[in-house]
Amino acid sequence: MSTVAPTSSREHAVTEFVVVLNAGSSSIKFAIHDLADAPARFRGQIEAIGVAPVLKARDSEGKVVAEHSWPADGLNHEAATRELIGTINTLLGGDRIAAVGHRVVHGGINYAAPVRVTDAVLADLDKLVPLAPLHQPHNLAPIRAIAAHAPNLPQVACFDTAFHRSQPPVVQAFGLPRSYFEQGVRRYGFHGLSYEYIASRLSEVAPGLAAGRVVVGHLGNGASLCAMHAGRSIASTMGFTAVEGLLMGTRCGSIDPGVLIYLMDSEGLDARGIEALIYRKSGLLGVSGGISSDMRTLRSSAAPEAKEAIALFVHRIVREAGSLAAAMGGIDGIVFTAGIGENDAATRLEVMRGCAWLGVVPDEGANEAGRHRISAAGSPVSVWVIPTDEERMIARHTRAVLTIGTK
Ligand code: ADP
Repeated sequence: MSTVAPTSSREHAVTEFVVVLNAGSSSIKFAIHDLADAPARFRGQIEAIGVAPVLKARDSEGKVVAEHSWPADGLNHEAATRELIGTINTLLGGDRIAAVGHRVVHGGINYAAPVRVTDAVLADLDKLVPLAPLHQPHNLAPIRAIAAHAPNLPQVACFDTAFHRSQPPVVQAFGLPRSYFEQGVRRYGFHGLSYEYIASRLSEVAPGLAAGRVVVGHLGNGASLCAMHAGRSIASTMGFTAVEGLLMGTRCGSIDPGVLIYLMDSEGLDARGIEALIYRKSGLLGVSGGISSDMRTLRSSAAPEAKEAIALFVHRIVREAGSLAAAMGGIDGIVFTAGIGENDAATRLEVMRGCAWLGVVPDEGANEAGRHRISAAGSPVSVWVIPTDEERMIARHTRAVLTIGTK
């Protein structure tokens, strides 16, 4: 099945677009931005890559503008990228892709800012695969596919770790022998593109707070908190990998490493077994006894296990928020973002109540209504809901690195 509606005729002046790609293990999400700093013109994804791939794109009003499906064994990441670029070209009609910006999970020690992709950069990023084996190879596959098939199309890599490189060395260190730190065994932090976008939005939504000390909660399937002072990352809950910190959809978050050694001995788990346990079988899914990794499903369940999973999710956020406030020497505000943070008023209220001791006074009506500001007037710590847009941040970086369009 295949439908694509070209959106522009060949007669008008050619408009240039930045395509943003965010490639995961079985999907590639995309967003198409023009060269101004505005919300995406189109968004969509190819899902079920390697299984039964389906592509869907919507315009900014949510109308479906392209749909394709492929046979069950069709398309690896490389082929999916080529199909995607082909569909986007058709969608753009006479308009043109000026550049592609990519989300890349790991920039290691050396990439503290977005970078134009060259063969040398790609080789560097390949060396970081062992640091993020579940994500980095998928992020790099579309870059390689485009470099092979459209070598003149500029590509920019934007890193989830880069925003956190401003953290002081002591925050990045583990208590291991120091040679490991030199080798790169350190706390990197993730969700950086989301936090950077929130930092930019804070100066518009809550200018008084933007220069202050803020804990931002990116609460989605993956979840983390970031301590931000004057828009810079001071500390974060994710560390060497994206499994540290909060309880997540299927990840356990911080755990006593002694538990893992115990399970290796008692259950005979090897590295892959531990990986499956802590990344895919734990979190909300595991604690709820297999009910779901999805907050909406858990909220609508009457099972005590679902309630316990949510209680642990909230408890971990509250404890870590206190820890990040300590890292900043105080706190002026809290921001909620991503799927749960933007939509689940119950989680927000429970977290706000847990943070009462820090000076949070909720405005329950505003929270229920999902307003921007959800703390009461006069609350010593103000609390905000700000939708994130990592793709827009990547589009911004891509334009800035290539010096095209507006900043
Ligand atoms: P990802 O990390 O995959 O990008 P999202 O940011 O989309 O994830 O967040 C997904 C989570 O957000 C899921 O747990 C989902 O249940 C939750 N969520 C989305 N909408 C709502 C809602 N209206 N109420 C409660 N939870 C929601």
